[in-house]
Parts: sequence; structure tokens; C-alpha cells
Amino acid sequence: MSFIELGLSDQIVRAVTEQGYTTPTPIQKQAIPAVLSGGDLLAGAQTGTGKTAGFTLPILQRLSNGANAPQSNLTRRSIRTLILTPTRELAAQVEESVRTYGKYLHLTSGVIFGGVGINPQIKLLKHGVDILVATPGRLLDHMQQGTVSLDKIEILVLDEADRMLDMGFIHDIKKVLAKLPPKRQNLLFSATFSDEIKILADKLLNNPAMIEVARRNSTVEIIAQKVHPVDRDKKHPLLAHLIKANNWKQVLVFTRTKHGANKLVEQLARDEITSMAIHGNKSQSARTKALAEFKDGSLQVLIATDIAARGIDIDQLPHVVNYDLPNVPEDYVHRIGRTGRAGATGEAVSLVCVDEFKLLADIEKLIKRQLPKEFIEGFEPDPHAKAQPIQLRSFQGNPRGGSGGGGNSNRPPRSGQGQGAGGQRPQQRDGNSPHRTSVKPAVKQSTPRRSGGRGGA
Ligand code: AMP
Repeated sequence: MSFIELGLSDQIVRAVTEQGYTTPTPIQKQAIPAVLSGGDLLAGAQTGTGKTAGFTLPILQRLSNGANAPQSNLTRRSIRTLILTPTRELAAQVEESVRTYGKYLHLTSGVIFGGVGINPQIKLLKHGVDILVATPGRLLDHMQQGTVSLDKIEILVLDEADRMLDMGFIHDIKKVLAKLPPKRQNLLFSATFSDEIKILADKLLNNPAMIEVARRNSTVEIIAQKVHPVDRDKKHPLLAHLIKANNWKQVLVFTRTKHGANKLVEQLARDEITSMAIHGNKSQSARTKALAEFKDGSLQVLIATDIAARGIDIDQLPHVVNYDLPNVPEDYVHRIGRTGRAGATGEAVSLVCVDEFKLLADIEKLIKRQLPKEFIEGFEPDPHAKAQPIQLRSFQGNPRGGSGGGGNSNRPPRSGQGQGAGGQRPQQRDGNSPHRTSVKPAVKQSTPRRSGGRGGA
């Protein structure tokens, strides 16, 4: 089946073909007709499956057809589609996709997120765009300041809805939903279906089409995965050795904490390996710069915490390194999903010390296979080493920290009206991690948030 056969216009197919896409991915085959039909949609799909084009292409098609279709790019307009994403990076990437796929149409788009000046966004919103991509916190600021109007929304997309709930955005989302016109098309994309997601879907969606594509942890066979056992204090020299000995040119490294990411940048610098870190304590401009340099190949190593890396979309990223194993086993799948995307092969290696054996066992249980272990000469771990509790300097996964508590309790208080130009939000907002300081064994932080498994579709 081709994109033309799915009912997309010549202009859209041309833009997609220019991206090198010849055949729709499984999620696209199902989502495109469902969205074109105008009904609601509940889609189970992770990043890396082509889900962004799965909703963007039919939305572009719907907006460019019909009575409200704009005739030029210049006229003022109302927002007709709102796409909410959990993180700033994902928001930027989705909007970039909208622009790429819509380049031959007369539709306009914009993106708003926190951590950057609000005034350019106010200007953008004043002029209006057809498609607005936003993170919930900053959108709410604009709503409270009266600088955005959502009363002409025809289509709402919640992208990575599970992450948005994990990050405590449910109250913000509810406030946004309350301001949307009741008659609209709703699309909900989520990698997992916890009870919370099911409740949200029940409230939001009207007789939705339900589609699901295989989870990445059943489709990542093209990614070579292995574990290098190593002592905890040898991880950094081992990483430097791997990068140098294998001549790795583009490596995404995951650390558990922001502090760990910063420290690793310094350690690698001593080995003359250039790296940058992205995490919630970095300014938006630093994060954007690091990501751009990494994407264009001028930065060899990007070090990221889980939430900061969420949704990073780099074609054919060859190497992902788990410098620390994640506390939440599903994050392992998200992490390695950065490589081997859309059919490319990739390699994911995990540096695992004795403290992390329980985390490794949890991951292997989730992905239903044992990861091959490869000892690297000169870095074999001490067989008598004793496990120590993992120090969680900053917690990156579930804001509820396994307490099962009520969603938003760890969020910083709202700071009244939004900030002026250049104002910084409290870090948890708009996709940064909550800054929980806790010193607990990581194994306690298992996965209450994912307990629902794959229900939904
Ligand atoms: P996503 O799941 O939306 O993050 O997309 C993952 C990657 O797949 C992105 O790099 C897209 O550019 C790419 N992609 C999306 N659709 C296709 C397609 N039909 N053929 C090849 N690559 C695609």
C-alpha cells in the first residue's frame, strides 16, 4: 500500500517522498485512514514507529481540504489543530515534521514550550497558526494570560499521553480540555495503557477507532544489544575505551542523573572526547544547541537523562550506551529505541556494575530475553565486589516515585502569571524532570506507572 492509496493528496505525498519514505509504516497504514475519516482515535504506538507522520499527514490533509482551507500563508488565522506533547524536544520535532510534510500546502504551524521567552510566542499566537504544537505548562500560561484562543480547535492530539501523565501534566491537560470546543476530533497516542490512560481515553474519546502496533520491545530485534559487566568506578574509562577503540562517531549515552551526566562530560573531556549533556537543569538554548550539533554530526557524544532524551529523533543513530541502567525497565526500551529506527540497524550497549543486577534482571524480564554479556579485556569486574544501594541524586522517571500517590503532589507551585521574555520556568514544567532528592536503593523504584500493561486496543 502506498501513501497515495491511503488517500493523501499529491502535495503531501510529494513532501513525504522527498523524505525518502516509500511505504507507510504499519501505524501509518492504520492511523491515516482512521484520522481521515474524521473520527476519534486511540493509538498504541511508541516513538520510532512513524507515529508522528501517522497523525500529521492526515491532519494536514483534513485542514487543507474543505470550507476552512486557507488560500495563502499570509492571512491571519485561528488555531484549528492543537498537538500536546510531554517535552520541549518532542514538541519542536513534531512541529518540524508538520512543516516538512506540509511544505507544499498553505498551512502554517508554530510551537510553544517553556524555558524560552514568552514574547515571541505571544506574537506568533497573535498572528495565529493552523497547527499549534505545545507542551501543556506553557500553553496554560498563555491561556491564563489570554494570549491564546482555542475556541476554533477542530482536532486535538495528545502525543505520548502516558508520558504526559507520568510527568504530572494531567491537571494542566484537564484545564486545556475544558477550554476546547466540544465538537472536535480527538487523537490519543500512548505507548502504554495504564488505568490512568484508560480513564483519560474514556473521558476524552468518542467511539474511537483503536489501533495498536507491536511494542518496540518485541520489534527491536534489529538492534544488537549487549551488556558489558564492569566495576562501578571503571565505567568511565570503559566508555572512553569503547568510543576510541571502535571509532564511534555518534554516540548517545544515558545516565541516571543530571549530576552523573555533567560529571561524565568532564571525565570524557580529560580523554579528549567531546561531549555535551542535556537534562532538565540545562537551559533550553543549551539543549537545542547540543541536540543540533549532535544531529549534524559535529558533536561526537551526547549525554542525556531519560526525560530530556524522550522523543529525540535521529535517523539511524548507530550507538546507544546505557552508562547507568534506568530505574524503570520500560525506559530501557525507550532508550534503545533511539537506535535502529525505521529499519536501520543499531547497537545498544549497557555498562552494568554489581549494583545494577536487579535492574538488569527486571529489564530482561520485560523484554523476555537475556542480554548477552561480553567482558572487555582489562575491564573485567571484581567477582567479589559487593552491591551498594544506588544513589539517586535526581530522579528522572516517575514523579510519583513509586508512592502511588496523587499525580501532581511533587510539582512546584505555579508561579502566578507567566514570565516575561527570557523567563525560566521551574524545571519540572514542560518536560523537565522533577528534582526529587532521594537516597534510596533504585530497585525500590520499580514500575507502578506501567502496571496497566497493554490493554486498550
Ligand atoms: P516517529 O515514530 O514518528 O518518531 O518516527 C520515527 C522515524 O521514522 C522518523 O525518523 C521518521 O522520519 C521515520 N519515518 C516515519 N515514517 C516513515 C516511513 N513511512 N518510511 C521511512 N521512515 C519513516
